[in-house]
This record gives sequence, structure tokens and C-alpha cells, in this order.
Amino acid sequence: MKYFLLLALFLLHSCATLGGKEPSEAELNAQAAKAYEEVKSKSKISTNAEWTAMVQRVAQRIARASGENFQWEAILIENPEPNAWCMPGGKMAVHTGIMPVLQTEGALAAVMGHEVAHATKRHGQKRYARAMQGNLLGVIVAGASVVGGQLLCKSSQCRLLTGLGGAAAGFAVAFFDRKFSREDETEADQAGQIYMAKAGYDPAESIVLWERMGAAKGGKSAPEWLSTHPSDERRRSNLRNWLPSTQEIYNQSPQKFGLGENIR
Ligand SMILES: [Zn+2]
Repeated sequence: MKYFLLLALFLLHSCATLGGKEPSEAELNAQAAKAYEEVKSKSKISTNAEWTAMVQRVAQRIARASGENFQWEAILIENPEPNAWCMPGGKMAVHTGIMPVLQTEGALAAVMGHEVAHATKRHGQKRYARAMQGNLLGVIVAGASVVGGQLLCKSSQCRLLTGLGGAAAGFAVAFFDRKFSREDETEADQAGQIYMAKAGYDPAESIVLWERMGAAKGGKSAPEWLSTHPSDERRRSNLRNWLPSTQEIYNQSPQKFGLGENIR
């Protein structure tokens, strides 16, 4: 009985703190940073020196090209699921499983450009707000289940975050278990192509990337990259339409890496 009372109080509290209003950018970034630390402590960080160096230099170049003043950070996680993400506030991760699919450093720049664009365009904030409105109960249940020492998460990345409580737990569910909208995906494609061009990578590689991702899709169930996105065909035709203006940006980039190194 006591437990239920505590739980009820906790739920009310969650309602007030999570559902009452959207968190400020600083609050959301702080929750993201907390979740990121948890991911880091619970993941196996790759020891592949060559891939790690590549992820770090691409992350730095894309971050600089975005013009955003975030607390940038990037890690390469040992995980066969082909995925990559950037949290609100600039905390990035790439899974080792996506590297062979990408084939080139330029394709990695396209992926990271896209993910960074979700952060710079504040798409996470919108996703968080939608999670609050659309499925408040789910988020509260996720928060409440922390009482029992466990987070209710669907994605494997989210399930990793068992140590989180309160708002950071709500953030983890909103970030890892919810999808971006189609509009946000298209915006991230466009901004991502611009970032990679500014960073000195041939933006045409963003189109080839989607052919590789499509070929890798197979029948397997899908991370953010493969499931939430506009149809591959529509996406490629968008990217092709933007290419002439993005190519201009690339031509003016002081440093040019072309496709960069091959990923072996
Ligand atoms: Zn996306």
C-alpha cells in the first residue's frame, strides 16, 4: 500500500515535471548529456584505431561546418546494428556495424552530417514534445518503471540506459524509441548535404550512400536510419535536386577531401 502511494506520488511528480511544459534547451541538453554518459559507460567502445580516427576527424569537420557552438563529442560503439545518432547538444555515436556498409569516409560524412542536422535543427526538442503529448502515459510508465530499477524501452540502445531516472529517463525513451517526422528527415538530408560539402567532402556521395543503405537493408528490422525515412527513391531524387547548389559550396570549401579514405 505504501508502495502504491509512493508510486502515485511519483507519477504525479512525473506528470508535473515531464508533461507540464517543454524543457528548455539547456535542460534537454543536460538530460542528453546524462544519457550519453550512461551509454558510454555501458557500451563497448571500439578499439579499431583506424575507424576511430576517421569518426573523430569527420565529427570535428562536420561540427565545425555546422557553425553550431555545442559541447561536441563522438564515440564509435562496438555494435553490429548499422546505426548512428547525434543527441540534442551535439553528443554523437556511430556503430561499428554501419562502417562496412558506408564504404567511404565521404559516406560517413553524409551520415554524420544528417545526424548532426537533426541536432542543429532542434528536431529532438520536437520529438520530445510529441512524445509528451502523444504518449504521455508511456513516458510516465517508463519513468515510473525506474522505481523498480528498470527502464521500459523498446530499442536496444534505450534498454541500455537502466541507470537513468526522472527526466533523463523520459529523454532516453523520447530520443531512442520515437521517430523523427518526414519533414524533419528531409530537412536533415538537405542540411546534412550542405554540412558535408562545407566540411570538404564530395556531396554526391550522399546519393550513393542511400543506394548502399538500401542494398544493406535486406529483411532485417530497422534502426532509425532504415525505418523512419522517406522512401529511398524520393530521398535520392531530393538529394540529386539539391546537388548543384551543394556542389557550389563544395567548390568553395578551402579544403577538399573528395570521398576521403576507403573504409576497410
Ligand atoms: Zn534522420
